[in-house]
Amino acid sequence: MAENNLQEQMQKEMIEKDIFNQIKAYAFDYADKSLERHVFPTENAIEQLKIFDEGIPENTGNSKEVLDTLHKFGSPATVSQIGGRYFGLVNGGIIPVALAAKWLNDFWDQNTPLYVTSPITSKLETVAEKWLIQLFNLPKTTVAGFVSGSSMAILCGLAAARFKIFQRLNWDINAKGFINAPKIRIVAGRHAHGTVVKAVALLGFGKDNIEWVDVDNQGRIIFEKIPKLDENTILLLQAGNVNSGSFDAFNDICDMAKKANAWIHIDGAFGLWAAGSEKLKYLTAGIEKADSWSVDGHKTLNTPYDSGIVLCKDREALVSALQTTGSYVVYGEQRDGMLYTPEMSRRARAVELWATMKYLGKRGIDALVYGLHLRAVQFAKELSEYGFNILNDVVFNQVLVACDNDLETEATLKKIQELRVCWCGGSQWFDKKVIRISVCSWATTEADVTRSVLSFVKAREQISIKNNS
Ligand SMILES: *Cc1c(COP(=O)(O)O)cnc(C)c1O
Repeated sequence: MAENNLQEQMQKEMIEKDIFNQIKAYAFDYADKSLERHVFPTENAIEQLKIFDEGIPENTGNSKEVLDTLHKFGSPATVSQIGGRYFGLVNGGIIPVALAAKWLNDFWDQNTPLYVTSPITSKLETVAEKWLIQLFNLPKTTVAGFVSGSSMAILCGLAAARFKIFQRLNWDINAKGFINAPKIRIVAGRHAHGTVVKAVALLGFGKDNIEWVDVDNQGRIIFEKIPKLDENTILLLQAGNVNSGSFDAFNDICDMAKKANAWIHIDGAFGLWAAGSEKLKYLTAGIEKADSWSVDGHKTLNTPYDSGIVLCKDREALVSALQTTGSYVVYGEQRDGMLYTPEMSRRARAVELWATMKYLGKRGIDALVYGLHLRAVQFAKELSEYGFNILNDVVFNQVLVACDNDLETEATLKKIQELRVCWCGGSQWFDKKVIRISVCSWATTEADVTRSVLSFVKAREQISIKNNS
């Protein structure tokens, strides 16, 4: 196709909007089916993915056909996340208004490094920052950076800590790097999330230099086991253990760490939202004493993916850490989002975060977060009535389930996944294999929980029949 024909064709598509109507119909078809269909794609659907194995096309194709292929072969090979029976990892559903806002945001296609590249994004980031600080009750000086997820938010929090501690030691880490640098200590609980360890590695601290602190039977740092801290230490705490959902005892630990002038970072990827629930906020008591926090919108809050937030009490430390030169740091009247993130070009992820919080309000956030907890409690209760062992205190949204031995647990989990009524992953909890349930979606109803529990029971029956025959 000649070049100007291509341009004409695309102009036509923008004006006529047929392909957008087409994809809207496909999206609605997907939404209706995926609420009831298998949570995990069938083997046949996965087999059919080989249609995508081809070389880059020589010639320009047809938009409608591209979209047809995507829906026909792509949609059946998705994991049904928008339904109520996906309990793997710690994911999150999607609030309808956030999804709708995302569609508009897609048309906006904003790039968001600076105020001048997108005034609306600058405004919504400013507002979302203020709301998050209020909701989590963080210090007034706190600033937020809108990043891709907690992995990146943790990295930014630790980069700020690194900058600040080295600055106090009269060492410009951005300029001089680690060679001949003074030593910084990293102290973390043995159950710190893998992405925390990754951030430590990426920032050049070295994983082997982490001073590991023993945890109790819920995975919480044991206060008495924390080594003597000093002002050159970064202490890593967590709000929401990725397996058990437990929270470190922030009040006492932070008091002690603050006295030592250590930097405290809290990984609250999904758990920080407990602060938004009247009945659960006891879990986050004391978080305001930390220096930096990382949290996701895309988990507990059910925003679309690509929504992580770094919060830092010390603006100068965060901004300096994320810039290559100090002189670059000029604060305008308006917010320039790139000062608070490692990236320059970014999509306007704050749009959906804002829409979600604007819609839910404090009451809605409370209802959402507490609802996830209630469904988790229901899961634990019903499963234990059927003779499954629940290995954690269900304080938040996580449930750890075991059968009578590891072999049975693993076989049951495999069967649950094959039945596809719901989807859970496996994990290791101290010396035991576990089936790990994470209730993360607003869409999960009491009936979804019961239906999933019955699938657990059926799975266990089927493997015992197989074992006995
Ligand atoms: C999910 C998770 C992370 C990583 O977050 P991403 O958004 O996936 O990058 C970090 N810590 C905890 C506790 C988590 O649950």
